[in-house]
Amino acid sequence: MIKATLMMLVVGGLLGLILGIAEKVFFVEKDERSEAVSAMLPGYNCGGCGFPGCSGLAGALVSKDVKTVCCKPCKAEQRQAIADYLASTVGPDGTNVIVKA
Ligand code: SF4
Repeated sequence: MIKATLMMLVVGGLLGLILGIAEKVFFVEKDERSEAVSAMLPGYNCGGCGFPGCSGLAGALVSKDVKTVCCKPCKAEQRQAIADYLASTVGPDGTNVIVKA
């Protein structure tokens, strides 16, 4: 019984150590701008922009995969606000994003 308990403690400790190392090695810094832009979009998730949802377009804008705020239901002021936000806010890499409204 004691031997089995010790074995479980060792296995648990090793797995915890492996998970801790994996978290450090595979850590991806989160870009807060993606959530901010997603919150500025209408949230209809209609797919009219060619992405499966608003968060998809937000991620593409932040990662510079698209050059225009191509949300069809957005009003012009909303598109301009998103473009202004991206132009004035730097990301974790120290750069901003220039897109057309
Ligand atoms: S077109 Fe606009 S509302 Fe529709 S999914 Fe794309 S970002 Fe969201």
